[in-house]
Amino acid sequence: MKKTTKTYNPYNGNHLETYMLDSKSRLDEKLDLADQTFKTWKNFKIEDRLILLKNLADQVFENKAELSLLMTSEMGKPITESTAEIEKCILLIDFYIKNAEQFLQDDIIETEAHESFISYDPLGCVLAIMPWNYPFWQVFRFAVPTLTAGNVALLKHASNVTGCAIAIEKLFINAGFPKGCFQTLVTDHNAIEELMENDIVKAVSLTGSEKAGRKIAELAGKNLKPSLLELGGNNACIVLKDADLNRHMDTMVKARMQNSGQSCIAAKRFIVVEDIYDEFISKFKTKVEALQYGNPTEENTTMSCLAREDLAETLEEQVQSSIDLGAKVLLGHTREGAYYQPTILTHVTKDMAVFIEETFGPVAAVIKVKSEDEAYKTASTSKFGLGTMVFTADYEAASKRISEIEDGAFFINDMVKSDPRLPFGGTKISGYGRELSKEGMLAFVNKKTVYIN
Ligand code: NAP
Repeated sequence: MKKTTKTYNPYNGNHLETYMLDSKSRLDEKLDLADQTFKTWKNFKIEDRLILLKNLADQVFENKAELSLLMTSEMGKPITESTAEIEKCILLIDFYIKNAEQFLQDDIIETEAHESFISYDPLGCVLAIMPWNYPFWQVFRFAVPTLTAGNVALLKHASNVTGCAIAIEKLFINAGFPKGCFQTLVTDHNAIEELMENDIVKAVSLTGSEKAGRKIAELAGKNLKPSLLELGGNNACIVLKDADLNRHMDTMVKARMQNSGQSCIAAKRFIVVEDIYDEFISKFKTKVEALQYGNPTEENTTMSCLAREDLAETLEEQVQSSIDLGAKVLLGHTREGAYYQPTILTHVTKDMAVFIEETFGPVAAVIKVKSEDEAYKTASTSKFGLGTMVFTADYEAASKRISEIEDGAFFINDMVKSDPRLPFGGTKISGYGRELSKEGMLAFVNKKTVYIN
């Protein structure tokens, strides 16, 4: 069995670190510590938990530069985007500092009883399995509300960002959280089955691919434990004939190309009405061509390599198989190692990989449609359900479509994005459950009915 895991810089291929995997006995110690800590942590007053959250925000702020660089070196994100991710984590913490107490208050419900209400009690130890694409944000958006609600957490992070995982644990410890509130497990897939079977683990949260989602849902089902799944997406970006392209083109390009295209909520299918198609194509191409590829540690880099070479190879194959079915390359489709050139494909049809599957990299699939109705119908032709966005001057007409959209989010004149104040999550094979906002805080609580007569 493998005893170590290695991290590499995807931009230059340099080996970064070799980490020992936790032994079986080390994992057991961590589980026991989590269990012991929960017994006291659940009784902490909310005011005391909020003081620790404030310390956590300070820790993140003080270490911003170092954390950003670590993230960039492990998964290749342009440094300005890494810094923005760290800043977003601070925003998230501030949001819960301001709102946690209110979110966790008992909800009084009038009945014939003397008193009846819902009490929100923590579940215990929650296992989090997280991806590498937003190595800090994904963990924080799970951990901050989950811990503040009185739970403890064990993190199994993606192996290529093990350094980030260890740094996050350190942030919680340095902020003064009791040891055992947040622990990183340095482990691989093999350990997950046993962890899920262990009585100490009460629930699981996974952010990752559809494939991992099916496996974790199966284990959660087998062990009858609650699960929250944030999985892949294949969001449509509908461009209607009255869209203000001058105003929104930067947003549309960002919607596809941010994080070098490695975002679950990215606009992956651009569904464009024929009246505006030529103008869209010309403006979109100009902006995509202007992206600056280079060393991700440099401030002016806006497009980087992918997080691993195999991810770039998969993307190349998805594009090639779509070309074989008739898609045309307007831009890009060259690969060098982990770098895959920003690519625009036109003449995309519903039978192509770039339409059906999630493309996790800088590939925009463009589909020309005749009408608004056809645009919405084409957008909903997907087994994914993370979000849909539409650009149009007639937001009232777009608003009439809300109930038609089966996804977890519908954004009019903006890109689908996460915001601590708003719930976030998917439908269909994009997963279930909601993070962020009050919903995220109540994701791992026992909503206990109390009836006093
Ligand atoms: P991934 O391969 O599914 O990995 C995600 C995490 O699950 C990693 O920690 C991985 O560990 C672990 N994992 C994978 N298969 C597993 C298994 N069979 N048993 C136990 N653990 C397993 O996904 P990724 O490549 O890291 O991330 C990209 C995917 O995440 C995309 O599909 C993206 O859309 C999705 N995503 C969704 C959201 C959302 O909010 N909906 C946000 C971000 C990303 P190892 O690293 O050790 O393999």
